[in-house]
Amino acid sequence: MPIEEVISPRPMDDDGQFDERIRPLRLEDFPGQEPIKERLRIAIAAAKLRQEPLDHLLLSGPPGLGKTTLARILANEMGVNIKATSGPVIERQADLSALLTSLDEFDVLFIDEIHRLNHAVEETLYSAMEDFEVDILLGKGPTARSMKIGLKPFTLIGATTREGLLTPPLRARFGDTCRFDFYSSEELETILLRSARILDVPTDQEGALELAARSRGTARIANRLLRRARDYAQVKGDGFITREIAMQALRMLDIDELGLDKMDKLILRTIIEKFGGGPVGVGSLAVAVAEERQTLEDVHEPFLIQIGFMKRTQQGRVVTPAAYRHFGMSIPRPDGQDAMF
Ligand code: ADP
Repeated sequence: MPIEEVISPRPMDDDGQFDERIRPLRLEDFPGQEPIKERLRIAIAAAKLRQEPLDHLLLSGPPGLGKTTLARILANEMGVNIKATSGPVIERQADLSALLTSLDEFDVLFIDEIHRLNHAVEETLYSAMEDFEVDILLGKGPTARSMKIGLKPFTLIGATTREGLLTPPLRARFGDTCRFDFYSSEELETILLRSARILDVPTDQEGALELAARSRGTARIANRLLRRARDYAQVKGDGFITREIAMQALRMLDIDELGLDKMDKLILRTIIEKFGGGPVGVGSLAVAVAEERQTLEDVHEPFLIQIGFMKRTQQGRVVTPAAYRHFGMSIPRPDGQDAMF
């Protein structure tokens, strides 16, 4: 994989083309995340006034909420280029130096999964962010010497699903941190109707709302459900996404009325049935559901916590009474008797 891709840090799959078409390019086309947008509008206006690059910015939040999209919008609004890469892809200091020296004045360097940079590369980033300088190693072996090279002023935008894993020195070098929230159903409805319009998929408001309500507060999932509902509508219906068609498509995908998918349900049921409701350590849980620990922590848990079905405690993960109720199960009581809510 190349260490830098100007357009997208993600591999293009069948859905890649779809993503490119519906990705908003301006702040005004990006629904939701109002507090973040408000701050960024001011930051953009101020940077333009002073003829300076935007301050380095950290975007944090679960996957699929629009961090990559927003980074590209910022570059677009500033009228500069963006180069995108990702933490684990930059293996050597020289790779990062090559990227940094290729940036033009005020350009944006976007590093996804910035918490996964290796230590040596991260250290190179410190002076680049602070002083717009990098140390380059000339020659090899005992005669090797390092030389400082000046960089053009640029903006680093880092994205992370795990802000807590960022080292303090790296975090301190960002001028601001924007924490993304899950989207409301209304915001997702707006996102869905916009995507449907661009893709020419006839969708009524009720169909869009049904998909929105089951998208786990996540823009990427909303767009994915739109694609699946479009397939379903074309094959089983007349191509129009109504509430009924949306509901049938969602039933086929095994997505319940809260948007929980197979894995979400498996996680909750496993904690209830195999671990007595918890607490259970995330490592044991990952083994029990045969899923990667990181996927559990980054993708599934934030939403289950957000809807109040799960808690992270010092002892491990615990399922709440609301989750028992969702499955129509009785809640175990400390005296050993089961209570039917
Ligand atoms: P992240 O980088 O946080 O994982 P992305 O920026 O890749 O998320 O967004 C995932 C998908 O959701 C993209 O197709 C993007 O176009 C869409 N998307 C995200 N946020 C919004 C939004 N606020 N409005 C419209 N589409 C969005």
